[in-house]
Amino acid sequence: MKEQPVGMAVWVDETRCKACDICVSYCPAGVLSMKEDIHAIQGMMIEVSHPESCIGCRDCELHCPDFAIYVADKGFKFAKITPEAKERAAAVKANHFRKLK
Ligand code: SF4
Ligand code: SF4
Repeated sequence: MKEQPVGMAVWVDETRCKACDICVSYCPAGVLSMKEDIHAIQGMMIEVSHPESCIGCRDCELHCPDFAIYVADKGFKFAKITPEAKERAAAVKANHFRKLK
């Protein structure tokens, strides 16, 4: 497991990510999205766009087929879900999992 960056609720190992979108599809809080990355094989890469909204549900970590995304331990002070976070999650999904402009 890649080491946790200080204070981060969720983080990724970009060398493992295959840009499958699965974690983004599960995230209920609009934390995750896909960004364009010309150096990535798929041309896209996962991004933790709103770490401050992570509620620690672990759905991303549990469903990633490549073990590329990690969530902080239970002791971490995660956010509570908000209407704004839910709306952002829906908007990202409607935007084909891509980062909102
Ligand atoms: S732990 Fe839950 S809220 Fe946090 S990024 Fe993963 S899926 Fe989203
Ligand atoms: S589920 Fe895993 S491999 Fe797929 S986009 Fe998310 S981090 Fe990358």
